[in-house]
Amino acid sequence: MSKAPIPDAFPEGARIAVLTTQPLGRPLDYRAPAGGVRAGAFVEVPLGPRKVLGVVWGAGTGEVAATKLRAVLRVLDAAPMRPELRAFLERAADYTLTPLPAMLRLATRAPGLGDPPAMRRLYVPGERAPTRLTDARARVLDALEAATSGLTLAELTEAAGASASVVKGLAAQGAVAEIATPRDAPFPRLDPEARGKPLSADQASAAAELRAGMASGGYATTLLKGVTGSGKTEVYLEAVAECLARGRQALVLLPEIALTAEFLDRVEARFGARPAEWHSGLTMTERRRVWRMAGEGGAQMVVGARSALFLPFADLGLVIVDEEHDSSYKQEEGVLYNARDMSVLRAAHAGAQVVLASATPSLETWANVEAGKYRRLELAARFGAVLPEMRAIDMRAEGLPAGRWISETLARGVETRIAAGEQALLFINRRGYAPVTLCRACGHQIGCPDCDARLVEHRFLKRLVCHQCGESIPKPDACPECGKEESLAAIGPGVERLAEEAQARFPEARLAVLSSDLFASARALKAEIAAIAEGGADIVIGTQLVAKGHNFPLLTLVGVIDADLALHGSDLRAAERTFQLMRQVAGRAGRSGKPGVAMLQTHQPDHPVIRAILAGDEEGFWRAEAAARQAAGMPPYGRLAGVILSGPEPEPVFQLGQALARADGPLRRIGAEVWGPAPAPIARIRGRHRVRLLVKAAKGAPLQPALAEWIAQVEVKAPLRLAVDIDPQSFF
Ligand code: ADP
Ligand code: ZN
Repeated sequence: MSKAPIPDAFPEGARIAVLTTQPLGRPLDYRAPAGGVRAGAFVEVPLGPRKVLGVVWGAGTGEVAATKLRAVLRVLDAAPMRPELRAFLERAADYTLTPLPAMLRLATRAPGLGDPPAMRRLYVPGERAPTRLTDARARVLDALEAATSGLTLAELTEAAGASASVVKGLAAQGAVAEIATPRDAPFPRLDPEARGKPLSADQASAAAELRAGMASGGYATTLLKGVTGSGKTEVYLEAVAECLARGRQALVLLPEIALTAEFLDRVEARFGARPAEWHSGLTMTERRRVWRMAGEGGAQMVVGARSALFLPFADLGLVIVDEEHDSSYKQEEGVLYNARDMSVLRAAHAGAQVVLASATPSLETWANVEAGKYRRLELAARFGAVLPEMRAIDMRAEGLPAGRWISETLARGVETRIAAGEQALLFINRRGYAPVTLCRACGHQIGCPDCDARLVEHRFLKRLVCHQCGESIPKPDACPECGKEESLAAIGPGVERLAEEAQARFPEARLAVLSSDLFASARALKAEIAAIAEGGADIVIGTQLVAKGHNFPLLTLVGVIDADLALHGSDLRAAERTFQLMRQVAGRAGRSGKPGVAMLQTHQPDHPVIRAILAGDEEGFWRAEAAARQAAGMPPYGRLAGVILSGPEPEPVFQLGQALARADGPLRRIGAEVWGPAPAPIARIRGRHRVRLLVKAAKGAPLQPALAEWIAQVEVKAPLRLAVDIDPQSFF
């Protein structure tokens, strides 16, 4: 992957190019400092009156006159960025049409990156119980319990919402302990020789193939396909073992932070120690430690969210993308990238293996297997269990009264399961109480003041919330439009309303509601999940949070309240998403021994997608879906790029869109088409009006250079904004 050899050490005074995280677009020339500097070194350089962080990108370009050349101020005490990561950032920037400095920012998200290592004081749970447990003291102890490692005083007071004197008081009693530790200590060693569970024949042969791939020492991507519960995790942990045994580092990406805790426990059981974790819930101190240890090899394994892909690994040997089809791998704000695709790119540069694990792979991955680019390994059977039986409930025949969503057929199923001491899951992919609040007197629907979206009632919070911008208002007593009292009605179901109906329908049952917004912390959610797994509920009511990977051994019935929900609308992936989601949710049932059943409430039992789900004819579904996309020239057989324009006034945004549409020469030259401008489906978010264009090109067409040339023709002046979304997953 490397280009022409570039010198990697520069003597004092040499002209070097430094890429900073400032929005300048390209590296700038500087003079190497006393003692010289290596390519990839993290440095501090002067920029105007400021000092900024940068990375030595290579030899200087000569753009700055020798007399004006300024010297690097300081070389930071951090492992230099490896050529592999620099090359990856360049390619990723080109692919996503992102300025290189913005890519560098993703790779340098470590606070105090240049600070020297030092000791610091941390707080951990103490030996004794506190003499008197006030609310503030309880919060401090809770926060310490929740933290994976110790917390600094600042982190602890922040997390607990308590003052430093509360912490000091507890320390004086011995209820919390103060310890001095070096910043950035290496993570405990994982033992690659530790034995995993004895594997089934299927698992053993898949594991052997993955181990052999690791042994080859180079890049390759493998799809590890297997129904939920088939033991994919056990198999890819074997690849991790092989990777660690070879002294290389492994990265495991998970689609949901809530899954991390359970996964960390499994890794600890398998390798005798916990890996490093990387996600938005980390403290600054933890972040810095993981970043540095990834770079110095003090973290053998990192488990994390998509941004972990940009860590400066010393020797990345393996990337696992678990639930690779999950749409949350697409970053939808800031730099728009798909972590699954970028994993493959990074691995190609690092000479690493990639394992894409899923029960329901994306059509993109399926097509790459068909094209021979990815290998495919399959686990056919469930480990020690059988797949759930799939049944449709024809809602046209159920005659449910308005305002009710649980059919008699489903309700009887639930009762039977509860009576047998088993659990039932009622699934609805909608947070909150009701999606629409309507005035019965005047017909007004309460919307967000800043977005083109209706407010969603969250009864638990007693507020109406905008799912676009997060803004919320207390639920009014009277209609804000006509002023009539007590005229507001909730329309349609959300997970909270379904819980209300279930409680009324099954008054004896113990209910647990799982929706991401109902939990104050990842820890509270984790505790609830653990309680459910141990039988602490009869009925689980949940959103898509429950579809992802959790293991509830007692769960034998899954009821999907509205299987048609995602089929409506014009999303390119509507069929694919519905198919994946239904199979994932159904896969929660009957994971340990007892056979499970999934019941899909649908108004269109004859819809081809619903029929494919019921029949479990996966290959058939993929072939039909692939043929349809191929015929339409749609991804993965053609390419799309979205352009989103926005601004505070609608008119200039639309004019910019029209100017772009007119200037389509560069796109026509590569045979691409432009659609739009059209108002975006959500035409206003956070007070900004939004207009979209969509570019469609043939698979092999040089899309990015053409897009760059096309966009460069128009001037986008603040407050207008233009964002390019390569391979868009969403079209809102
Ligand atoms: P997947 O990742 O495919 O959903 P998991 O690896 O989580 O499947 O396995 C599902 C369940 O089966 C887990 O509880 C796991 O511990 C158990 N399991 C899988 N393989 C084995 C094995 N070889 N021996 C014992 N238990 C296993
Ligand atoms: Zn809003």
